[in-house]
Amino acid sequence: MKYQSFLIKYAEIGTKGKNRYLFEDALIRQIKIALKRVEGKFLASKESGRIYVEALEDYDYDDVIQALQHVFGIAWICPLLQIEDKDYENLKKTVVAYMDQAHPDKRFTFKVDCRRADKTYPVRSEQMNRDLGEVILEAFPETRVDVHKPDVLLHVEIRKLVNIYSLMIPGPGGMPVGTNGKAMLLLSGGIDSPVAGYMIAKRGVKIDAVYFHAPPYTSDRARQKVVDLAEQVARYSGPIPLHVVNFTDIQLYIYDKCPHEELTIIMRRYMMRIAQEIAGKNDALALITGESIGQVASQTVQSLAATNEVCTMPVFRPLIGFDKQEIIDISEKIGTFETSIQPYEDCCTIFVAKHPVIKPNISRIRHSEQSLEEKIEELVQTALDTEEVIWCG
Ligand code: ATP
Ligand code: MG
Repeated sequence: MKYQSFLIKYAEIGTKGKNRYLFEDALIRQIKIALKRVEGKFLASKESGRIYVEALEDYDYDDVIQALQHVFGIAWICPLLQIEDKDYENLKKTVVAYMDQAHPDKRFTFKVDCRRADKTYPVRSEQMNRDLGEVILEAFPETRVDVHKPDVLLHVEIRKLVNIYSLMIPGPGGMPVGTNGKAMLLLSGGIDSPVAGYMIAKRGVKIDAVYFHAPPYTSDRARQKVVDLAEQVARYSGPIPLHVVNFTDIQLYIYDKCPHEELTIIMRRYMMRIAQEIAGKNDALALITGESIGQVASQTVQSLAATNEVCTMPVFRPLIGFDKQEIIDISEKIGTFETSIQPYEDCCTIFVAKHPVIKPNISRIRHSEQSLEEKIEELVQTALDTEEVIWCG
């Protein structure tokens, strides 16, 4: 059966009451963005508190489902048969034909759930439940009614049109992007940061990203890998402007002036400072990183405290309590893992010390940073002035 429409059921509504329409409008905007990737014309609309997607041309069913499964805020996608003809005898026939095609294997239990939103309709809901149940049992004697735990729950809604549906395909949950402000993701080529971006976008937050590269120590391919990851995260979050910042001179200067065991921490502090500047200019109110306690020397609690000390914005670290395997599981699910494990060099790994501090002392780090006083402001300014923005997604 070729479905012309889909009923979209949404997940948790963070903005209840009179703000609910904001949530619905944001969801419709994100659905439209997602469907732009799919061939064909679609109409996403709201009607008496329901969201529908209607195909206006021929389309590929799997492509549409896949696109909608990337839209945060969607709890369920219900392929819908919509008919105009409300004649009761005709409805019975249509329901039988629908059940035949939607559920080819007839060994199921079912329940009919009719709703009469149009109160002028001559048959009451309970009567319809009984009548439609009866015609289904007659047509498919292998089926059985189970009102408590049916395998198939058939919905028949009498509205302006008649809606018939029983299939419910899970969406990704979460909140529509655009309902919760914007944050700046520090996106590296690793496994963790794309997952961190995905998790915050899932709560409705719009994402900008910043990537620090260090040419010629890091290659164009390493940079392309980050662009690819941003594209993949953007399938969920909507388009991401990726700010590419040249970090080479800052890194070389730190390398030259500071104790080598403190390099990583000092570099990370400058990344946070610069990310914060860029966030401020782009209306992002928080930073996002892929840090997780204890994963590497720069992510011990002491190191996190030392890195965090330069931040005035909130820093979201959604992976902070996750094991590596749990992070890998999500990255496989969202499709970033294969790209993340490509073996290109990262700007942090090139300048790492053999024995980095694992319990940095904040006052010592501050003291070391004083030796950067002469040129660092100018270098940071140049890095900011020469940033390049690549639109991903
Ligand atoms: P990831 O897998 O995300 O690269 P990681 O385990 O390699 O993380 P680190 O290299 O210590 O950990 O980086 C910690 C976090 O700092 C990253 O998750 C990311 O948010 C940010 N980060 C690190 N390197 C860069 C970079 N070159 N550009 C932008 N952000 C970075
Ligand atoms: Mg990394």
